[in-house]
Amino acid sequence: MTDRFGRTIDYIRISVTDRCNLRCRYCMPEDGVPMLEHEDILRFEEIVAFMRVAVSEGIVKVRLTGGEPLHRPGIVDLVRMLLAVPGLQDLSLTTNGILLPQFAGQLKAAGLKRVNIGLPSLDPAVYAHLTLLSSLDTALAGLKAAVDTGFSPIKLNVVVLRGVNDDLAPYLDLTRRLPVEVRFIEYMPIGPLGEDNCLVPAAELRRKLEALAPLEPADKPRGNGPAQEYRRIPGAPGTVAIIAPVTEHFCRTCNRLRLVADGHLRLCLFGADEIDIKPALRPVVNEEALRALLVWAMQQKPECMPATASDYGRAMGSIGG
Ligand code: SAM
Ligand code: SF4
Repeated sequence: MTDRFGRTIDYIRISVTDRCNLRCRYCMPEDGVPMLEHEDILRFEEIVAFMRVAVSEGIVKVRLTGGEPLHRPGIVDLVRMLLAVPGLQDLSLTTNGILLPQFAGQLKAAGLKRVNIGLPSLDPAVYAHLTLLSSLDTALAGLKAAVDTGFSPIKLNVVVLRGVNDDLAPYLDLTRRLPVEVRFIEYMPIGPLGEDNCLVPAAELRRKLEALAPLEPADKPRGNGPAQEYRRIPGAPGTVAIIAPVTEHFCRTCNRLRLVADGHLRLCLFGADEIDIKPALRPVVNEEALRALLVWAMQQKPECMPATASDYGRAMGSIGG
């Protein structure tokens, strides 16, 4: 389905919980955010009912996110249920990796093929400072579990903060050893740090990378995703890329909607406008009402919103990135 601006909308990010076992400084306030009530969170059957309609309307790619999606009880069942939806072409999951040693095998057995892992530093002290509630060793155990289980590709999300984790060299070293796709992401001022001079613009990230090592284009098709071209150190199994939501806005190629854990369809990451689909799910699922809400939502997608600190309505950890 295309929206008013001719963009094909074929991708949805579903946040399955607003809870998280970390408190990344760029995402969540230290004392957390007000939690959704249990009964407000969509049940798996409701998510799947919605996805049946969405797939029939051309949304064929899904990413599960959170909060921390592996923190949601029964997440492996949801993966299995979604993969049984006829016509769904791609399912992926974004996690902080902490629970992957426990879940990687079960997720793979359920049919999940790929994961993105948030790994904001390879320095133990910086990782602990940035995430507050865990350690680099624990995160690396998660990454190892993902590699050993055979997920592919494995993408690593690194939100870069000036003066905190802007040494990119350790990640380049990692790409020499592991087949991971490291994506350096511009800090979006939606986080608790606000504007606060944290942003390292993409142009600067590019210069930093070029100063560290010779890089060549990696053989990877450019999809609709926001990552710019992937590059690699010649001969390295891994790659690096930059995601620039702030300085090189990618609204023109935006292909996505977001479903928040409490059943609100969010039209744009940077805008607070949302459409509640729960009335079409409760007390019983009404497929035609769901379809009407979805089509309406797609047509309401804004052309472009500024990526500046403003009223996003929710914390990043609730929207799902
Ligand atoms: N807990 C999972 C994780 O950390 O990957 C999934 C949810 S998290 C909200 C999804 C992604 O959002 C993170 O991987 C991180 O890259 C990104 N993110 C969070 N806060 C951000 C910010 N202020 N600016 C840019 N990206 C951010
Ligand atoms: Fe939790 Fe992910 Fe946000 Fe970190 S980025 S606080 S792991 S939701």
